[in-house]
Amino acid sequence: MLPLLALLVQTAGHPNVCYEVFVRSFYDSDGDGIGDLRGLTQKLDYIKGLGADCIWLMPVAESPSYHGYDVTNYYKIEPDYGTNDDFKAFMAAAHQRGIKVLVDLVLNHVSNEHPYFQQALRDTLAPHRNWFRWSKTGGNNWHKSPVRDEYYYGLFWSGMPDLNFEHPAVMGEAKWVARYWLDSLGVDGFRLDAIRHLIEVGDSNANTGATHRALREYGQYIRMVAPKSYTIGEVWDNVENILTYYPDQLDAYFAFPISDALMDAVQSEKAGRLIPTVLQFQAAQPAWRWAPFQRNHDQTRTMTFLKNDAQGARLAATILMTLPGVPFIYYGEELGMTGDKPDERLRTPMHWGVGNAAGFSSGKAWEALQPDSLTANVAAQERDPNSLLTLYRRLGAQRAANSALKTGQLIPVETGNEAVLAYIRADSARAVLVVANLGKTAAPNVTLPAEYRSRTPLARTLAPRRAYIYELTKRPPPPPPR
Ligand code: CA
Repeated sequence: MLPLLALLVQTAGHPNVCYEVFVRSFYDSDGDGIGDLRGLTQKLDYIKGLGADCIWLMPVAESPSYHGYDVTNYYKIEPDYGTNDDFKAFMAAAHQRGIKVLVDLVLNHVSNEHPYFQQALRDTLAPHRNWFRWSKTGGNNWHKSPVRDEYYYGLFWSGMPDLNFEHPAVMGEAKWVARYWLDSLGVDGFRLDAIRHLIEVGDSNANTGATHRALREYGQYIRMVAPKSYTIGEVWDNVENILTYYPDQLDAYFAFPISDALMDAVQSEKAGRLIPTVLQFQAAQPAWRWAPFQRNHDQTRTMTFLKNDAQGARLAATILMTLPGVPFIYYGEELGMTGDKPDERLRTPMHWGVGNAAGFSSGKAWEALQPDSLTANVAAQERDPNSLLTLYRRLGAQRAANSALKTGQLIPVETGNEAVLAYIRADSARAVLVVANLGKTAAPNVTLPAEYRSRTPLARTLAPRRAYIYELTKRPPPPPPR
């Protein structure tokens, strides 16, 4: 295959920027205080306006919990969110706008209210008894059965019994579930929850050989039935362990170590481990196979983590949106919404304006809003050319329009100053220089490597807590000596 054609095949269909949505908190279309699929559908243009061509939906299958990570029916949309037909209508509207949709797929465990588990609890001869793990003696992560003298395994808590993936029928069912979402509901791929815990072996509950084997089989199955799909796994671990999940398991994984290094750099005012960590991923795998981010639904939001340092939030946004990889943005981060544990407070309703429930619902929101909804809202920030939202939109547009930012390599630039982070993103056609002064004092700008020239003059000094993006051109090579 010609190299250019190979590159096209490799990058076709992979997301450029992905936006993580918690449907319950995004937009309520019917006034019951709960976000829903019809509401989300109405807000697709907003998401597209961020430069996102991909959405990750936190779980939307039927579940008794507010978060949905404990499923009772893998083939049915959670009634709070709408119907399967509402979901199909949402998918059609997303595809119309060129937006791909990944849904959260929770394979490690089900809800303890799942009918298969309930039958297995009550009847040791139930047909799905072996889909779960049972013990007479119990131990760590084993939970007492409410009906007989035995224990069942649940890594996270008693309400989430683990599925037994060593039983072949469980893997078979997991494949049917993927197929249903791909073929009948039209999704473009999956985000696989807690996937490093899929199969426990003895006392080891993470990264086991059996988990790798299961993911190899599952990833290959999904690529076979849907060659243009995209799967991304949650392996919340260090770089070395994440890299053991390539090359032939899922397509991609979240780069948790980049997230940590990025947030640490902005908070500590030192570049620290950020560039070395990005280079570890870049050296190991193509950029479409790993995903940097600032925060997700399990972590203190950026603005709270940075103690309301608005300049810091701007630095973090600029760095995230100019790194290689597939950046993921957690909804509301583009407004600088605040939020800290417990989990419900990381997942509060989106702030659309200043009306009832900040424009999220005409009724009473399912969860109290954050106190910053008067300033951190879409309507206010849309009018403000200096808002965080405006910055995100600009960065999203810039990334979408510039092949160097989308797919170019990251080339570190030595700054001699640990408060100044600098890198070039370059492909064969274009190049961009990103410089971020993380420090609270002005600093001299970097010196460009000799082979590059900036289209606009570089600032001589870098203002405190400011980031700069310069378009570069490559100098023509010197004429050959005569
Ligand atoms: Ca609703």
